[in-house]
Amino acid sequence: MGDNQFAGKCHIIMDPNPEEKALIYPATTRLTPSESTMERFRKRQRIMAQTKPEPAQCKICRSYFQPSWDDFENNWKFPDMAIIPLKPGLSNGICRSCIKLMHIRENINMHLERAGIPPKYLGCSFETFRPANDIKHCYRICKEYIAEPVCNLFLYGGYGTGKTHLAVAVARELLLKGKIVLFTSVPRLLFEIRKSFGKGADDMGSFYIDKYSSCPFLILDDLGLEKNTEWSRQTLDYIIYERDNNLRPTVITSNLSLDELSEKLHGRISSRLAGMGKVVLFNGKDYRLRRENQTIPILNDSR
Ligand SMILES: [Zn+2]
Repeated sequence: MGDNQFAGKCHIIMDPNPEEKALIYPATTRLTPSESTMERFRKRQRIMAQTKPEPAQCKICRSYFQPSWDDFENNWKFPDMAIIPLKPGLSNGICRSCIKLMHIRENINMHLERAGIPPKYLGCSFETFRPANDIKHCYRICKEYIAEPVCNLFLYGGYGTGKTHLAVAVARELLLKGKIVLFTSVPRLLFEIRKSFGKGADDMGSFYIDKYSSCPFLILDDLGLEKNTEWSRQTLDYIIYERDNNLRPTVITSNLSLDELSEKLHGRISSRLAGMGKVVLFNGKDYRLRRENQTIPILNDSR
């Protein structure tokens, strides 16, 4: 689906009321109990053939949806359409997937917050990032990643070079595609898990480990900032190992290179990260300082 599919504000059209629907898609003649099973079967087959509507087309994604027979109501239904066409054969209905995406687009900030994006970063998107000519390839890697988000993405470089901005932009685009995304900083993730174990809550620590291991997309901000203990290394290693084994993509930002992480984390996590995705170096000046002066960051691809 193109980016401009929902350009402008979308409005959800009300479903036709039941009376209107009955006129458009009339209920079939009721089957009487006196008829034999075979008669009833043949009659139903005849009614089904006579009343089967044309496939409905979604006016947004242009996909066609076949009707399916509802045995309870003795009528044809379009289970995949949220709004059925006003008349059979017309393409003015909207499918359930498009309704869901419209809802996300209209309430994107709520969905970003639910994904764990801190309020400070809610405005971060590809549109609000200003790549200079010499870093456009790096910006492009993050944009291209959205089209096929199947591997991991490791973004590293100095403080304030725009890594988190682009990681949030990736999260935003994935959410707009209807994907399930979680965002957290590594110190916060470890704090949540440790706090849950420490309070003696029933298995809440393992609940958080499972939550971050099993979500379809995870953005881990600031890897390497956490306190370096055997427990934190094992916990992170477990989550990244589980995600990798189950082909769940992870986007990671860090101020440290893979070599520096290897030294800090005893090589386990960084060697896993190195072999499973794209590595992008942000070596520009402080993006936050430059942004205030209306200038732009410098990024490099070290793939
Ligand atoms: Zn659709």
